[in-house]
Amino acid sequence: MDRVRFEGVGKRYGKLWALRDVDAAFREGEVVMVIGPNGSGKTTMIKCLLGLVRPTEGRISVEGTVIGQDPAYRKAIGYMPQISQFPPALTIGQLLDMMLDVRGLTTSDTDDRLIAELGLDRQLDKRLSALSGGTSQKVSAVMAFRSKPRLLVMDEPTAGLDPLSDRTVLDRAAELRANGGTVLITSHLMEEVEALADRVAYLQDGALKFLLPTAEILERTGSQRLAQAIPKLITAPVQP
Ligand code: ADP
Repeated sequence: MDRVRFEGVGKRYGKLWALRDVDAAFREGEVVMVIGPNGSGKTTMIKCLLGLVRPTEGRISVEGTVIGQDPAYRKAIGYMPQISQFPPALTIGQLLDMMLDVRGLTTSDTDDRLIAELGLDRQLDKRLSALSGGTSQKVSAVMAFRSKPRLLVMDEPTAGLDPLSDRTVLDRAAELRANGGTVLITSHLMEEVEALADRVAYLQDGALKFLLPTAEILERTGSQRLAQAIPKLITAPVQP
């Protein structure tokens, strides 16, 4: 079943169409890597899905429900933003507790293995204002996975993490997929993310140029890596 559907979704900022006529479906049990040049609409697409901006046209449904005024659908979503803004006076532990309250979760609803795996268990008393960028990213990852989301959205998850933590987070994303979850990752062409992605969505000037299986992209272009394959696909459009 499709977990997310975009139907004719467009978003205009003033005169600029940041997203144009996007049709896409993301399924249960898959990882989709969303790529494209800077300014191609990746963040706008995610913000529309999270309900942070409202599409100018078209509609988005999550688990069969068209998203609109009621934010209840967001309970199914875990979100790891690129840059997190945490309340600075709280400690890591307080923030994690607060999230449970806000979402109405109990500890049985949560998945907290990541806290220890990322070494945050020894830092729960640290204030959020005192964290390095990488540690903030780890806290974001824990928050995103904590409620066992059915849809996980990660915006450049590997940007600030050390390679080991990176691996830990991507392994956890793979586990979520194995349990039927849907994972959307915006990323640069990172080998680890490529290896994980079942399909690749490519945006350019706000338009979805293609949404194809990773293996098919490599096969059609005779490439080992997406960095070589994507330019070939763009210059020689894919036959349907
Ligand atoms: P990406 O994430 O792929 O870098 P974005 O979705 O952030 O791209 O941006 C797509 C386009 O929309 C860019 O041209 C950007 O400048 C523009 N844009 C994004 N957010 C806003 C905004 N709040 N107001 C005006 N223009 C915006």
